[in-house]
Amino acid sequence: MTPTEPSSPPGVVSEGSDLVKKIDTADGLLAGLDFDGTLAPIRADPETPALSPQLAELLKRLASQQHVRVVVISGRALADLTTRIPVPGVDLAGNHGLELRLDGERRVPERVEQRLPDVREALESLRADLDGVPGIRIEDKQLSLTVHVRETPPNHVDGVRETVSSVVADSSGLTLSEGKQVFEVKPAVPLDKGTAMQRFERETPTEWLSLYLGDDTTDEDAFRAIQPEGIGVHVGERSDSAADYRIPGQSDVPGFLSWLTTRTSISEEPGAS
Ligand SMILES: [Mg+2]
Repeated sequence: MTPTEPSSPPGVVSEGSDLVKKIDTADGLLAGLDFDGTLAPIRADPETPALSPQLAELLKRLASQQHVRVVVISGRALADLTTRIPVPGVDLAGNHGLELRLDGERRVPERVEQRLPDVREALESLRADLDGVPGIRIEDKQLSLTVHVRETPPNHVDGVRETVSSVVADSSGLTLSEGKQVFEVKPAVPLDKGTAMQRFERETPTEWLSLYLGDDTTDEDAFRAIQPEGIGVHVGERSDSAADYRIPGQSDVPGFLSWLTTRTSISEEPGAS
């Protein structure tokens, strides 16, 4: 490892030479980014996280480059995500890939729409069954639900898990996943951050390189989806991540993206075609 070499991506813990070579020899780049814990620090109040002016500027610069496409893929509802990414030219996927904003247009598969009554029913049940649990917060994301336990005392969390599991088990059309202090209830359709990344890949020249940055368990689908050619960068300390590369934390993301904007392969070159 040569951390002092100027071309090395800052903050990358794993051996970075392959990463530099892949990026520098690519014809273009599809950069997929998670939001919470990657583009914005995690906060106890999910309303708080925002893109810093520095990161907004970096995304704008990246997205404006001719050989770069920037997409943000999040568990947040698309409408919520849209307000947090005030950057032109960035495509979005919300609700872990259940809804997309592609070229400015919202797209939701019909099989997702069909499960909406199940989601509504689960919301009613959870509101009733979890009533009175300290610190609990149930977020209605229209196409899915998130139960936040970040502010719930640890000795209550197992009970919440059991309740959510049983509500999901009572419904044929829903599935449960667990993230960082959240339980996600969503339509049981094979759509996730990985299929969202593949959808964006279909809209991108095939020879371009895919890169994905994310911090949470749901980002693992995206890391796997872009293998073996693509580059996964896990933000955090997981030792079992499917990503080949790792940066220590969210505060290292601006440095990494800033480095990315300097790579000549993806920078705008006059006369390049
Ligand atoms: Mg995240």
